[in-house]
Amino acid sequence: MTRTNAQPTASHFIDGAYVEDDAGVPIPVIYAATGETIATVHAATHAIVEQAIASAARAQAAWAAMEPVERGRVLRRAAAIMRERNHELSVLETLDTGKPLQETLVADATSGADALEYFGGLAADMTGLSMQFGGDWAYTVRKPLGVCVGIGAWNYPTQIACWKGAPALATGNAMVFKPSESTPLCALKVAEILHEAGLPAGLFNVVQGLGDVGATLTGDARVSKVSLTGSAPTGRKVAAAASSTMKHVTMELGGKSPILVFEDADIDDAVSGAINGNFYSSGQICSNGTRVFVQEGVVEEFLKRLNDRIATAKLGDPLDEETNFGPMTTLAQTDIVLRHLDTARSEGATIAIGGTRLDREGFWIEPTVLTGLTDDMTCVREEIFGPVMSVLTFKDEAEAVARANATEYGLSAGVFTRDLARAHRVATAFEAGTVWINQYNLTPAGMPFGGSKASGIGRENARMAMDHYTEAQTIYVGMSKVEAAF
Ligand code: NDP
Repeated sequence: MTRTNAQPTASHFIDGAYVEDDAGVPIPVIYAATGETIATVHAATHAIVEQAIASAARAQAAWAAMEPVERGRVLRRAAAIMRERNHELSVLETLDTGKPLQETLVADATSGADALEYFGGLAADMTGLSMQFGGDWAYTVRKPLGVCVGIGAWNYPTQIACWKGAPALATGNAMVFKPSESTPLCALKVAEILHEAGLPAGLFNVVQGLGDVGATLTGDARVSKVSLTGSAPTGRKVAAAASSTMKHVTMELGGKSPILVFEDADIDDAVSGAINGNFYSSGQICSNGTRVFVQEGVVEEFLKRLNDRIATAKLGDPLDEETNFGPMTTLAQTDIVLRHLDTARSEGATIAIGGTRLDREGFWIEPTVLTGLTDDMTCVREEIFGPVMSVLTFKDEAEAVARANATEYGLSAGVFTRDLARAHRVATAFEAGTVWINQYNLTPAGMPFGGSKASGIGRENARMAMDHYTEAQTIYVGMSKVEAAF
């Protein structure tokens, strides 16, 4: 692996140490702001995948047998190290993804540390149930699943590794994590820090590779669970492959989430919510509220304020803390977004703001707002995964809710209104796993996060994630003589 400063020292992290295998296909790591190759890692060969799974399987039983409070202590120590090194890790996240340092300083290693701290605290609380049946009774114990596989998308490489690794490890599992080929660096640092904090070797291994490496991991009979963050088509493939050996799955997939802005809303807050839900991380966030439905009476005002705010976006060197809007992470995703904009134009959409790729090095697309839309247009139906907001209008609540739900996806939704009853009525009417009222895209570690419908299965974070990384064993206790027919 080619290094730049403060980067991981090899392509993989297995059994407590960095490991290289130059026989693997080289994967360039490209800095999105300039298009330069800043490092090269090698995809895992079969030998590397084998080492990673075998070492995880070897290490898991002793880890599961350890006092849960001890496991939690390791995770909390790792959280503290991540916070101490936040600046260095944030720079690496910026180099890996292109996201501005202004974001990565507060949203990546910090969010990862939050998850490690949260699950570190919960580790000692793996409790079961107790049931009475006359004199007899039964109880449940929660057992770890064994070796779990985590597969990540490219938008939040540190956070995804921690959101999967922390609950897996807290509950006594081992994890083999495969980052996206586009952002391979950050998960290696997570592994390094976990082991520095005292995690025994083998419990959090990172292997690089493309989809085929993910597929090999998913197909391995020694693996009990796969947690994927990725697109819906990949989710379908991974879930189908996992079913052949009846693995547990958590699927955090894509979305086309709605934000409803009612006439009585605080319009500045609604504009802020829509900005966060469309332009943070240059729009590369699964839960983004990319269909913004604004009630007719306030649409003009909403668009005017949105325009004024977008005019203040600062595009530039992502390592400059003043920059608040960065490039797309990959050239491939840039091309996908530009194709979506061409389709939107050809289907009659109006590009109200932005809409072009900037004529400079790297992968830059302006913050873009589309208007003049109908619900059947491609840009309103399909996930774009870039800085493109679709603004639509509506007359009344029933119409808005019906149109908001008219999608195969169900990841998230938002509602902006000052009417308390309406806020809760609309929130529960949304067919979405996570809903924000008068807020958007905040995901604290203590809150379950995940999707309905085609957006996924299971939830990450919060106590619920502990259930997704364990299974209940029921133990019936007979207290009287056994009756038999003969
Ligand atoms: P992809 O679905 O393309 O890839 C996700 C991961 O799966 C990558 O590591 C990829 O490898 C791997 N992969 C691809 N094919 C297979 C396979 N057959 N078996 C196992 N693993 C495989 O998603 P992107 O990386 O392009 O990320 C963008 C998508 O992720 C968007 O749809 C977005 O909405 C979603 N997402 C969802 C989130 C959520 O929490 N719900 C959060 C963030 C993103 P590689 O790409 O390296 O070849």
